[in-house]
Amino acid sequence: MTSRVQLLLDAARYLGETLEPGRVHERFHELLADSIHHDGVVVSDYDPDEQVIRCEYAWVEGNRLDPSTLPPVHYNPEGGMQSKVIKSGEPLLANDVVERVKGGGTFYDVDKEGTVRKVPDTGPPGTQAAMMLPVKHEGRVVGVVQLMSDSEPYTDEQVELAEALVALMGAAVRNARLHRAAAAESAARVRAEAVAAEREQAANVLEAVGEGIFLVDGDGIVRLWNRAAVGLTGKTADDACDHAIAEVLPGWETIAGQIRIGEGPVTLPLEVDGAELWLSFVAVRSAEGVVYAVRDLTSERALEEAKSEFVATVSHELRTPMAGIYGAAQTLLREDIELEPSDRRMLLEIIATQAVRLSQITEEVLIASRLDRDELPIERERVDLGPLVAETIEHMRSRLPDATTLAVDVEPDLPPASADRDRLQQVLVNLLDNAVKYSPNGGPVVLEVTGPADGVRITVEDSGLGIPSSEQQRIFEKFYRLDTQVSRAGGGTGLGLYITRELVRRMGGTIGVQSELGVGSTFTVDLPWA
Ligand code: ADP
Repeated sequence: MTSRVQLLLDAARYLGETLEPGRVHERFHELLADSIHHDGVVVSDYDPDEQVIRCEYAWVEGNRLDPSTLPPVHYNPEGGMQSKVIKSGEPLLANDVVERVKGGGTFYDVDKEGTVRKVPDTGPPGTQAAMMLPVKHEGRVVGVVQLMSDSEPYTDEQVELAEALVALMGAAVRNARLHRAAAAESAARVRAEAVAAEREQAANVLEAVGEGIFLVDGDGIVRLWNRAAVGLTGKTADDACDHAIAEVLPGWETIAGQIRIGEGPVTLPLEVDGAELWLSFVAVRSAEGVVYAVRDLTSERALEEAKSEFVATVSHELRTPMAGIYGAAQTLLREDIELEPSDRRMLLEIIATQAVRLSQITEEVLIASRLDRDELPIERERVDLGPLVAETIEHMRSRLPDATTLAVDVEPDLPPASADRDRLQQVLVNLLDNAVKYSPNGGPVVLEVTGPADGVRITVEDSGLGIPSSEQQRIFEKFYRLDTQVSRAGGGTGLGLYITRELVRRMGGTIGVQSELGVGSTFTVDLPWA
């Protein structure tokens, strides 16, 4: 008996050492081999819900069989020996198998090759003795172990020992399965955590990207609205999420049809808060709906438009003086007519003025591009405004139209300003040129230089067309021109004030304008003292 206790203790330890359910079955079999003779062992699970008996481990005459070759058997309370054991929960000992199988129910006999025979239809079973032992958990039968012998009958004592071993095996299998389930659960939890972390990271990226990103589900409801989308549209995530996109972005329905999902970007106008934005849309389908990525191209588009307008303007601007030069030169070259010396002079003057105009235009384009590339050196020298203004005016007077008068008022004894002499002269010429050009009916143009506390102030005042207040900032933009009759009549590239502002800024000063439409304009330049 002591040896039996010892055997069971060893068995418990040995079975408990593995957490692989399959390995537990193997070890159980090894333990049996040492204590109870047998020619076959079959361990089956019983699922009380499905009422099906399924083989988990099978060994016949020295061969391990693939358990799946043994067909699952339905529990039949009237039938086979396994079912009887399941029903009673008691072990069953049969030392007369040949007789038993004749008594009804389904019996199978398995040979060492794993061939399954239905018994007795196909002849008598090879097995002489068998014991069937229930595997129990909390009082319920959850499996059956069969031991078969082809030669010797089994004793009650052997049944008792096998019962004890089966109980240990059952506990070890359950433990191994629980462990496996727990491991699977924790793996699933780790996976879920990884997915959540990935999602959070993706959400953070979505928040940080410069493009507006939003997700619209199959019902047209916004499900995601990132920070850039808020910036673009002025609608907060709360305004947008869980609302219909058609409400969030009125006008959406008209443009949505033009956005091809999964294709390249399209640029479309959308009215947002009364302003027309040009937005570039890319759409991709995801599991949860359609994801839109949106970029604001309004300013790029405006610049594009200004650029193409600029090309048209410059070509037009260049063509006019060139036509003048060409016409005058052609006339001078004619041999069939005799030109008066005064006519020749007039034609040569046309050529000279138009050539100046041509070089002015190319100069403006050149300076603007050098400013853009930051390649225009600006000096900071001490500049006395009195002489500089006098020189500039002298230069201007010759090209003043008759109806225009030019008055100059320079406060005496001003200290020198800090500026680039040549660039400052260019600034004055630009402002005076504009004052004259945009005063088509003539009138006074006044240039004043004063010295308020913190620097020198130059103002150029005209009584011309004036500038609507909505345009007063924009006139300093590159290529920007007001659409007036004077502008259309020619004589400008839209670069003058852009260059002027950039030069003033780079000399450390500021420029501004005050103007009233139809009354006149005053441009003010402030520069620091030297
Ligand atoms: P351009 O004179 O070549 O058109 P500018 O950059 O010098 O370009 O000026 C931009 C626009 O600002 C002009 O087209 C004109 O409509 C407006 N503007 C500039 N100066 C005046 C002014 N003194 N009075 C009225 N409009 C002006």
